[in-house]
Amino acid sequence: MAYSYDPENIFAKILRGEIPNNTVLETEHTLAFRDIAPQAPEHVLVIPKGAYVCYDHFALEASEAEIVDYTRTIGQICKMLDIQPGEGGAGYRLISNAGQDGVQEVPHLHVHILGGRGLGRMLARA
Ligand code: AMP
Repeated sequence: MAYSYDPENIFAKILRGEIPNNTVLETEHTLAFRDIAPQAPEHVLVIPKGAYVCYDHFALEASEAEIVDYTRTIGQICKMLDIQPGEGGAGYRLISNAGQDGVQEVPHLHVHILGGRGLGRMLARA
């Protein structure tokens, strides 16, 4: 089944400038901004500017330019936040929730970058 994208989702509204955001970094194809309800001292959301619902949608259908830009932006933000474990930072976790089982609230692809404290084990029981 092909993905159908809802242009009224809140991140689409952020991309159109209809609601404000706390931008960390913006590139040609990608926007990164602070989560409105942070779960850790560092909590940044990274979204592609294109209309992709979730990670597999993007990974299978986005252009190489979009994928490179998105991936590099995630790396750049880890650097900006000083959380790279290979560079003396204390590390981080990337999360991308998808669909019902993933408990995705906003149907526009986003990767959460979380850091700034110990994050515990990977999964809690639902
Ligand atoms: P998910 O459950 O992975 O879909 O996560 C959606 C995330 O979007 C949550 O962590 C929310 O706190 C965050 N969020 C919702 N609305 C906004 C907003 N206007 N600005 C920034 N973050 C938001």
